Amino acid sequence: MEKKNKFEKENAVEQSAKKFDILIIGGGVAGMSAAIYAKRRRKNVAILERMALGGQVNEIPKIENFPSVSSIDGQSLAQQFSKQIEYLGVDVIYDDIQRVDYDHPEKRIFGKNAEYVAKSVIIATGVSYVELGKNEKDFLGKGASFCAVCDANFFKGVEVCVASKNGSGLKDALFLTELCSKVTVLDSEDMVAYAQANKNKKLEVISNVNIEQLLGEDILSGVQVSIRDKKKESQMTAESGKNKEMVFSVEYRVVPTSALFIELGKKPDGKVFGGVKVDEKGFVVTDENMRTSIDGVFAVGDVRSKMLKQIVTACSDGAIAGQQA
Ligand SMILES: Cc1cc2nc3c(=O)[nH]c(=O)nc-3n(C[C@H](O)[C@H](O)[C@H](O)COP(=O)(O)OP(=O)(O)OC[C@H]3O[C@@H](n4cnc5c(N)ncnc54)[C@H](O)[C@@H]3O)c2cc1C
Repeated sequence: MEKKNKFEKENAVEQSAKKFDILIIGGGVAGMSAAIYAKRRRKNVAILERMALGGQVNEIPKIENFPSVSSIDGQSLAQQFSKQIEYLGVDVIYDDIQRVDYDHPEKRIFGKNAEYVAKSVIIATGVSYVELGKNEKDFLGKGASFCAVCDANFFKGVEVCVASKNGSGLKDALFLTELCSKVTVLDSEDMVAYAQANKNKKLEVISNVNIEQLLGEDILSGVQVSIRDKKKESQMTAESGKNKEMVFSVEYRVVPTSALFIELGKKPDGKVFGGVKVDEKGFVVTDENMRTSIDGVFAVGDVRSKMLKQIVTACSDGAIAGQQA
């Protein structure tokens, strides 16, 4: 069979690929907002989504900080967005994007099902939250939360806990002390120095904690933890002469709490970044017009390096990119 050279192969891809003015990778609220603005400019635009329109919003039991809507559940808000997308006639293509090539003026996107070409690309792939890996999903909306800024208001004046790793939850814990009566940080690493220097009377930091299980009948009532006493373990090692890996001092305890905020970090997926500049945590760096370091490639929403990752800021990013791309 005749072998095709690189140029011929690439040309063949371009011939078979579906072509658009703007392709938006990710159909969360950031991607859908971008689509609304792009479509109203009469651009040939499509959203590429691997799961369901709405993204993270689908997982939120109650939203009370989206302007103009006093209180709504996430799935209803996602549906309202989807209806608007449908009304405007935006193409929604269900495909899981595996890789991209932004090295040409026509950007190429390779999904599991098909290949796509566009003049501009808007990356709107969001983030995934680092999970505890215990039974926290049983308590989402019933005391367990992945977002202190979003849900703090539901726990005014009560005692709450924050699951943290090496200080990852401290910023949110300090924020929570403004509303809650007491905040206990359950950190999996050694935070003794921080705990000793802490002067905030509402904040307690416990080190070397392993969260074993979330407890409660219907709503969260406490957290079962095991706490290692590393100081005692060192003393016991010295006294016994045993290998330090063999010496444990563990206390099992139930920490009563109305809420557990799981603040172990968020991670973006770089699969569709195609070499755009990212910050030290892997989030895409843009200018105020959502332009990335590659011409014709924009980034919006939680995937972007920014201070406040919320629905309203994701929509704002999307509007700007949809107008610029
Ligand atoms: C439990 C929870 C509660 C929250 N509560 C609130 C709140 O009360 N108020 C508030 O303002 N914010 C809240 N947030 C934050 C808010 O949900 C996010 O800031 C916002 O939804 C981000 O939107 P996004 O479009 O940037 O990303 P996402 O919603 O993450 O959307 C990204 C989309 O991209 C898709 N995608 C990813 N990779 C690919 C790929 N390779 N190919 C195709 N598709 C892909 C995903 O399937 C997803 O649909 C909460 C978040 C969580 C998790």
